[in-house]
Amino acid sequence: MPARGGQVSSRSEGYQTTGKRHFGLTGRDVAPIGQGTWNLEASRDHAVAIRALRVGLDLGMTHIDTAEMYGSGAAEELVGRAIAGRRDEVFLVSKVLPGNATHSGTMAACERSLQRLQTDRLDCYLLHWRGGHPLEETFGAFEQLRSAGKILSWGVSNFDEADLDDAWQAGGRGKLACNQVLYHLKQRAIEHAVIPWCERHNVAVVAYSPFGQDSFPGARTEGGRVLAAIADTHKATPRQVALRFLVRRNLVFAIPKAAVPEHVAENAGAMRLELTAAEIACIEAAFPRGPRPRELPTL
Ligand code: NAP
Repeated sequence: MPARGGQVSSRSEGYQTTGKRHFGLTGRDVAPIGQGTWNLEASRDHAVAIRALRVGLDLGMTHIDTAEMYGSGAAEELVGRAIAGRRDEVFLVSKVLPGNATHSGTMAACERSLQRLQTDRLDCYLLHWRGGHPLEETFGAFEQLRSAGKILSWGVSNFDEADLDDAWQAGGRGKLACNQVLYHLKQRAIEHAVIPWCERHNVAVVAYSPFGQDSFPGARTEGGRVLAAIADTHKATPRQVALRFLVRRNLVFAIPKAAVPEHVAENAGAMRLELTAAEIACIEAAFPRGPRPRELPTL
């Protein structure tokens, strides 16, 4: 599908235009739509996957998300090849597995990630999800890595509001840069408490699986028809409308994964799109938020 992106003049309250925005308390300006890399190493043609990431950089999707878990390091190696010679353009994020998140384990995992990524620093380093090791230990290692310049900021992933309270206590005020969480049209649970918590504490929210992996609303579904109608108004695509909807709040970022340049270009087009308050209300009605969950869902 060709990349399309529409423009409209009207803006709605609480809704930010598509330029770069502050990544929480880091003060760094980061593009609202970035690039995920889970399963990128499973692509049939690695040269195409690398080209896709580079096209994304060309189009301003400079936030690249990866993890030591992805392909047991193979995704990080691909990212390293894609950003070679372009490191300064990238806001580079990786994650330590909870099983490695002791103090010494975190230090060692970070070194391995830096090596695979062929870089001397991460822009943000995350605890992939909360495991059995004390948060104080992991965050102590993060702070040591930060003092050494090996990471410039750190955050968490898959934390609900109670976990976030613990993280705020364990890490010290004003240290937590982001919480990366599941967020797509059919899974809006984080709107109940996680996004409000993050907004109160100036912590960036990074939406993972923004297309619900392979469960994006089909064209023949009721929700799919709503997206298509809005997309037509803007000469855009339903996926662009969905991405733009997800990053409608100032502190929210999204990291769709796309292994081919055509998909990347389409996703980048979301940054040229603006939705009206009425269109946002239509999408909210078509994909209701649902009840408040007892705990944060994961895919
Ligand atoms: P996703 O981004 O919701 O969806 C990826 C799927 O959408 C792929 O099959 C991709 O196909 C397809 N796609 C992308 N752009 C498209 C387009 N324009 N048209 C048609 N299809 C398109 O799923 P995800 O990979 O789970 O999530 C994104 C990223 O979030 C991950 O890669 C990872 O970096 C991060 N993540 C983090 C966690 C965590 O626990 N922190 C968990 C899950 C994901 P192609 O690849 O063929 O282009």
